[in-house]
Amino acid sequence: MGCPCFKSEDESTSKPEKDPLISSSVLRELSPEGFTILKIIGRGNFGKVCLVEKKTTKELFAMKILKKKIIEEKNQRIHTITERKILENSKSPFIARLYYAFQTTTKLFMVMEYLNGGELFFHLTQQRVFSELRAKFYIGEILLGLEYLHNNGIVYRDLKPENVMLDSEGHIRLTDFGLSKSGIGSDNPKAFTFCGTAEYLAPEILKSQGYDQAVDFWSLGALMYYMLSGAPPYYSKNRNEIFRNVLTRPIDPLFNISMDGNDLLLKLLKIDPSERIHIAEDVKAHPWFDSIDWQAMAEKKVTPPFKPSVKNMKDTSNFDKTFTNEKVEESFDVAGINPSPNQFSGFTYKDAESVEATLTTN
Ligand code: ATP
Ligand code: MG
Repeated sequence: MGCPCFKSEDESTSKPEKDPLISSSVLRELSPEGFTILKIIGRGNFGKVCLVEKKTTKELFAMKILKKKIIEEKNQRIHTITERKILENSKSPFIARLYYAFQTTTKLFMVMEYLNGGELFFHLTQQRVFSELRAKFYIGEILLGLEYLHNNGIVYRDLKPENVMLDSEGHIRLTDFGLSKSGIGSDNPKAFTFCGTAEYLAPEILKSQGYDQAVDFWSLGALMYYMLSGAPPYYSKNRNEIFRNVLTRPIDPLFNISMDGNDLLLKLLKIDPSERIHIAEDVKAHPWFDSIDWQAMAEKKVTPPFKPSVKNMKDTSNFDKTFTNEKVEESFDVAGINPSPNQFSGFTYKDAESVEATLTTN
């Protein structure tokens, strides 16, 4: 390669204060002042997500803003760096693309493609249930996203309809890798951390047994069940009751779907992970997917069953009004491209295609 390429460095490596090969325009891009916040589109446990416009090019992006203090208080530093690295390295059409990541003294910023079709959850609550045909398309594309992650040793752990986004055409994209774990595979150790969202939590996580990618197939089953019935399989207002049910109660078949659909649900929602269907290839080969051309699906050539209504590129009508009606107020502190005492090492990033080089500047 002819251009100067800066590969992501090991987190423990000490970084130069400023790399002379990084131009001042790139430095300006890697700062919140390079963007105008237009709307708030989501909030999570550690921060918020905004629709932003890049000042120089007028391009739109989704910017996830996290507060370092909250990340530290809740011991999420490693999760946050993992999320950033997964987004950087994931080159799958079913995983949200990251363009920039930077930090100030108090905040972390991840600038991603803006997925204006909104959360799958938003559309599911409007429709209550999806037809089997529509659910099959979403489960199929999500499965390809999971397969990509698993082939790269990553367990997603947070598959739920709030974290599955639609693009403007209606294809799915997985977001939110704050709970993901990398380095898990057949030759690697299992994970033990207790995390995830109650309704989608696999039994082996609840039992604090070691777990692997099989947990994502459990969540895929829970999501499929939700799409086809209008509620997650073990729904209850009482968290402990959800846990009790997950551990002890096999699901009842759904009367409104095909036998193949029910058979796949049963195989995904097996309480014992060793009995669960747990390899993407096996899920793809299940008769429920007989009508799917996997090659075409992987190339995004299957026409989505639903196209989100998007009036213009800045349209936020597919997002919850609780967020989009919020007043935008953001004060940025000193841009922290230079190492500071509160630096999150290995976080700053600029997408390779934008400058034909991957830059790690902190
Ligand atoms: P956690 O679920 O771990 O608390 P989080 O919810 O704070 O994390 P995300 O799930 O990444 O963080 O983002 C919150 C919401 O912001 C999403 O549910 C979605 O509505 C919106 N969002 C996230 N990424 C994008 C994106 N690339 N384009 C459009 N909207 C997005
Ligand atoms: Mg989320």
